[in-house]
This record gives sequence, C-alpha cells and structure tokens, in this order.
Amino acid sequence: MLPVIELFTSIQGEGKYMGVPSYFVRVSGCNLRCAFKDSICDTPYTSFNPEKSPYKTMDELVYAFKELQNKFPKVNHLVITGGEPLLYKKDLEEFLSLVYDDEMIVTIETNGTLPILNPISGKFKIALYSVSPKLSTSVGHVGKKEDINYTKEMRDRHDKTRINYNNLIDIVTNTSDYQFKFVYSGPECEDEIIRIYKEMGKIVKKKDDQFFNFYIKHHPNKNTMLMCEGITADQLDNKSKEAAAVCIKRGWTYTDRLHIRIWNNKRGV
Ligand code: SF4
Repeated sequence: MLPVIELFTSIQGEGKYMGVPSYFVRVSGCNLRCAFKDSICDTPYTSFNPEKSPYKTMDELVYAFKELQNKFPKVNHLVITGGEPLLYKKDLEEFLSLVYDDEMIVTIETNGTLPILNPISGKFKIALYSVSPKLSTSVGHVGKKEDINYTKEMRDRHDKTRINYNNLIDIVTNTSDYQFKFVYSGPECEDEIIRIYKEMGKIVKKKDDQFFNFYIKHHPNKNTMLMCEGITADQLDNKSKEAAAVCIKRGWTYTDRLHIRIWNNKRGV
C-alpha cells in the first residue's frame, strides 16, 4: 500500500512548474538521510521519523484524492513527492492508473537513486521527473542535529547510496522530460556537479560511442538547476547571489523555493 501521509493543494515551489497550482501526494519513507550544513532534510517526518499513513486501502486513498479534486477542479498538475516515492513503484503505478486522466500533468519528485516507473504501461504519462541528486554537502557530521540523533551508520549508508550514476543516465535517456535540481550549499557544489556529469559521460561513452555525442549535446545544461539550501527565507537569501552567479557562469537555471518564501516550510500548504 502506498503510504501517503499528506494530500493537499498548493503551488509548486521549485523547478519548471514553479508557481503552478498543484495537488500534492506525499509518501512517507526514504532510502536516504540528508543532513546539510545548516539544516537537515526538510521533511524529517518522511525520513528520520517516518509517519504512518492514515489510508488503509487503495480505495480509501483514491476516494480522498477524488474529494480533493472535486474541491479544486481547476487544478490539473499532480506532484508525487516524499520521502522517496519510487520506493513504492508498484503501488504508485496502481495509484496513478486509477486517478490519471488525459488532462492531468504528473511530476514525480525523486532523489534519483531508484528505478523510474514503467513508461510503457500506457495507463498514465509522467510529464516530468524532478530529480534532486544529493551532493556531499548532504552528508552531515555525526551527533545531535535539531531533534535527530544522526548516527555514523545513517551517515555512511547515506553517503554510499546518494548518487546512482546508472539510474541518473536512465532518467536522462528514458523519460520525456526531467530536471536535476541540486541543493546549493556553497562553492564546492559547482565542482561536484561537474564531476558527477563527467562520471555519467564516461559511463555513457563506454556503452555507446554514438549515443555519447547525443548525450553531450543535450546534457547537462538545459535541465540543470540550482536551488539554495535552507528552510527559511533568510537561509535562502544568504546563498542566492552566489548560486545565481554559478548559474550564469555555467548556463544552468536558478530556481527559487516559493513555498518557503510564502509559508516558511509549513506542512500541508
Ligand atoms: S532524499 Fe529528500 S526526503 Fe530523503 S532524506 Fe534527503 S531530503 Fe529528506
């Protein structure tokens, strides 16, 4: 069963659909444990302390979603977010097959470490994979972080699994649209992003020299985005000029985090 812990409408705060009114379906559970320099994961109730879903069956969940649709019939962008939604591939495919219609635009938000949904099921289309690969600035120091005891085991497991190059290549090559949104914590992030892309390029070249030319032409600039680390508007402002300068230099796109500016990381909006 898909462990949905929040169903709400809001505006999409980040990326290509920034500002678009959207339904949000948030699942609990994540395979990573991010602890950034100045803040931990912005939804710790899905990762460090995962909450339980109030929905016992798929019917209950679909009913609740349809009620939300009836309340806000003008909204047609659905964002599946987490936690890490792709932990529940089969259940997610089932949910989407039950609620999808041709007017609907679906974004899947993911950390990029797990396989994407089956694109040939034909029962739904994913308009955008919004991927946030985690850089080494997400590997925090062991100890007390906010109200979380960040253990060495958590840190090591996170660091080993946070980048899955082959999966990122799969997203670039086998989805109709994607964006890589990197959290910008400081100047070290720029070099690391370049290193990740070089590594992906090496893997692609080894597999298929022909395809490598296509890959280099289309990737990475168009779909690379930087968003500042932080869970308050002040924290975003501290890094925004620096991040914008990197975007201008590299031809990447700067994305704000509107939900934080408007609601300060409040839940359910
Ligand atoms: S990948 Fe996302 S949900 Fe998971 S711990 Fe990191 S920030 Fe939180």
